[in-house]
Amino acid sequence: MTTPKFNQLKSEVTGEETLPKNAFLLMVVLSGEKSAPEKLVSLVEAGGGTSLPKEVGEHEWSERFYPMRLKRKGPSLIPAEAIVPIKNASKFLNSIEKQYDGRFAFEGTMVGKDHITMLGFLLTDERSKVFPLAYTASLAVMDTAQKLGGQYFTTGMYFTDQAERLFGAQRLRELWDYKQTVDPKGILNPGKVFPTSLDKKTPTKLLQSSMRAAKLGKSVLSKIGLSMAAGGGSTKRKDLPQDISEESFICVQCGYCRSKCTVFNGSPWESNSPRGKYYLLHEYLKGNIEFDTAMADRMFACTTCKNCDQVCQANIPIVDNRLTLRPVMKKRGLENTGLDFVRKNVLEHGNFWGLPNENRTKWLPADVTVKEKAKVAYWPGCWASLVTSNMPNNLVRILAKAGIDFTYLGEKETCCGLYLAAGGYYDDLSKLVKKNFNEFKRRGVETLLLSCPGCFATFHEFYPLLTKQMGLKWDIEVKHITVYLHQLLKEGKLPLDTRVPVTVTYHDSCHLGRWAGIYDEPRELLQAIPGVELREMAHSKENGLCCGLVCAFNSFEIVGAAGVRRVSEALETGADTLVTACAGCNSQFAATAAMMKANLKVKDLTDLLVEGMGLEAIDPSENISQFMSAAVEALKDSKTIQKAG
Ligand code: SF4
Ligand code: SF4
Repeated sequence: MTTPKFNQLKSEVTGEETLPKNAFLLMVVLSGEKSAPEKLVSLVEAGGGTSLPKEVGEHEWSERFYPMRLKRKGPSLIPAEAIVPIKNASKFLNSIEKQYDGRFAFEGTMVGKDHITMLGFLLTDERSKVFPLAYTASLAVMDTAQKLGGQYFTTGMYFTDQAERLFGAQRLRELWDYKQTVDPKGILNPGKVFPTSLDKKTPTKLLQSSMRAAKLGKSVLSKIGLSMAAGGGSTKRKDLPQDISEESFICVQCGYCRSKCTVFNGSPWESNSPRGKYYLLHEYLKGNIEFDTAMADRMFACTTCKNCDQVCQANIPIVDNRLTLRPVMKKRGLENTGLDFVRKNVLEHGNFWGLPNENRTKWLPADVTVKEKAKVAYWPGCWASLVTSNMPNNLVRILAKAGIDFTYLGEKETCCGLYLAAGGYYDDLSKLVKKNFNEFKRRGVETLLLSCPGCFATFHEFYPLLTKQMGLKWDIEVKHITVYLHQLLKEGKLPLDTRVPVTVTYHDSCHLGRWAGIYDEPRELLQAIPGVELREMAHSKENGLCCGLVCAFNSFEIVGAAGVRRVSEALETGADTLVTACAGCNSQFAATAAMMKANLKVKDLTDLLVEGMGLEAIDPSENISQFMSAAVEALKDSKTIQKAG
């Protein structure tokens, strides 16, 4: 059950209009039923209600673990939780409505047939100096429930004076005696559950007295606090971008993101998780810690996999925040030496590795014609050009076979700018964007095909934005080759007539998957090749795991952990080949599988496509091994530093 206030706030936060306005929402979960029984529908109608469409019900069910999204409108909230007898639920809600002018939003869940837990939220702003006063509203809600025959939800360390009421005198005594036996020194959960009358040495004695004082004046104090906090508050530090400042307070500190985080999974320190990073930013904004190299180092530690974004309880665009912070850190002289190394290579040589740029064209087959000008341009990117050159070699042969005219920048191709964005080097990035844009225009390009998901994300996200800032119009369609090849497949232009008898599993690169939602096209391409059997890994599509390679700028421990985890998942499927559509993921898995001596081939999607066309693909294994060793050598000492001036 949710109250009208809850529904209203939820609609404002999500922009969804599906919930009824000025009405309660009742969600009934039926097991094994295909539709709501008539008796239930009549009951709802008899009460003046309406049954909502099934899709709304399913959507609300899928959202049931995200009540805290309301906090986006806070940025803080005062929670209150109590158990109320159902017969007094409306009295309870009316009373709170009256006491707090309808500001509390409630979500209720049945607990047994006679009681309902009421979880209330009141939005406020912890940056206000009177926030602690406002917080006592929580006590008023719980006391109202108690007066109506209900009870506090739990004791925790704040409400140990309620323990006897919650457990009963005899049970509480038994629990205390048991704790004395198993935990005579009071090490476990000190200060929790037991009242000062039993736990004489409780470390929360002071807290208990404060709670008693707060309870006495709760009604008055909370109202004063809420009215004074209404104007919002301010932080000691105001030098971070507005959205990051807000999100740092909006973060609920729930930790949903932790188990999803590639960096945290590889090295489980709290500061590696999104939650930990928001906590650090929060403390910085409050003036409690400095934004020094240690802090910047934590902020750089992120693969931008977006695995956290999709589970965030407060719907925070976590990765956007991470990237927005990079130029801010750069302005303060806080830089990652590995990203700076790549920046210099890009500026001086036009590629990630700092190699002569003519090396990047070596894969081009002599019998494939490249146009100087064409509507379609192909951009392999640094990594595929120099490391996994089978990828561009395959692609241009497929394009030639399909009769597609295309242009390719050759030695004039540079880095897309991904690592300049990652390092916060926006001045350099803007110059690069302009240079590439002008070259595309000179060649009459209307559609840009990309092999590398990282390049794809950069062209898709950064180029429209930065060209706009320069007064240029970005009107080039950006397509990853999997989408373009899928299009050719549908048009009957991919002659896949040779059997390729392999069992494969497909790894969704983060930049293709969560960044762009491209999940079906690569799978349909694989399934179109005769003889290919596709098996899914335990984590796939939206839940796919990150390869971890981007963490090479921060920690090879994390890179290794992510690689081993993903290759192990691939092995668990029983597939003989792990397929990717990303040069970086491919190199990472090839190196990891070799290190693990795993009986698993790692291939690019285009390898199987050319094989399906009766052609052969180049084996990049040796090249990958050399370049991965070079990457380790170049980035092994990568760290965050404070540059002078
Ligand atoms: S984007 Fe990935 S690595 Fe970065 S914080 Fe989110 S889950 Fe962790
Ligand atoms: S960033 Fe993590 S801890 Fe913060 S609200 Fe989102 S999921 Fe919860």
